Amino acid sequence: AAPLVISVSTALSAKHGLLIRKRPQFERARNIDAVIFDKTGTLTEGKFGVTDVQTFSDMDENKILSYAATVENDSEHPIATGILNEAMQRKLKLHEMTHFNSITGVGIEGTIDNRNIKVVSPGYISEQGISFDDQNFNKWSEQGKTVVFLIIDEELSGAIALADKIKESSKQTVEQLHKRNIKAIMLTGDNRKVANYVAEQIGIDEVYAEVLPDQKAEKVTEIQKRGLVVAMTGDGINDAPALTKADVGIAVGAGTDIAMDSADIVLVDSNPKDILAIFSLSKRTFNKLV
Ligand code: ADP
Ligand code: MG
Repeated sequence: AAPLVISVSTALSAKHGLLIRKRPQFERARNIDAVIFDKTGTLTEGKFGVTDVQTFSDMDENKILSYAATVENDSEHPIATGILNEAMQRKLKLHEMTHFNSITGVGIEGTIDNRNIKVVSPGYISEQGISFDDQNFNKWSEQGKTVVFLIIDEELSGAIALADKIKESSKQTVEQLHKRNIKAIMLTGDNRKVANYVAEQIGIDEVYAEVLPDQKAEKVTEIQKRGLVVAMTGDGINDAPALTKADVGIAVGAGTDIAMDSADIVLVDSNPKDILAIFSLSKRTFNKLV
């Protein structure tokens, strides 16, 4: 009877927006104790809009944005899309750029007119020991906005705040996980204040913020060592190693190809709520077989 059960489960999983890539991991899904979520693009839409620009130099807002948009032009990150959209709306002209380089989990850099231009995270700024008037930065972060900084030849030139939207189904998903006694954990590269803001809105149990991509995988192992069977859900290149490390790796369908290739199961409709169907279907399929 097993092959019949399995083909029925394939049809059912497709109906629930799931693509099962690896069967043993799908079977393991019925024993999950915790789901670890990436924030951007997984719990949130990953669609950023620029809300504020601050200048730390004699450059005006548009100049800050046109430099930032030029380097972001070659990046796939949702922050890049947000900055480029804003530059387009303001009809800004982009510059000529050479030597583009992406620093995963930190930002990007490029050369414009022989000057090194970086758009980077707050974590990078504090790591470099760059001090600045952080009043706006603190205010924006507490509002849940993501802030990136423009650095020109090692000099802090501007800050750009971007807002993302929490997916409507994220909160319901966490509530349903709790009903099943499953913990909800957030693992994000974003700033701590932003992470806490989003986590609070959704009801997340534990938050790990400012985590670099290779540390995401380590964090998964650390959580597993507590004796928890874990599923990891993510969408980005930076989530791929963590998806591989988790007992069940779940990629968001709208995410990057690399995340999808590293995953055991894909959420085709990019709806976190479909995770719940994974657990139910895994139970229904495999509890019958034993
Ligand atoms: P997440 O875990 O939320 O998906 P990432 O690891 O992709 O976050 O990025 C972590 C942080 O690195 C971002 O919040 C941002 O500050 C910075 N960053 C990453 N990529 C870019 C980029 N292309 N432009 C600007 N900042 C970036
Ligand atoms: Mg992400």
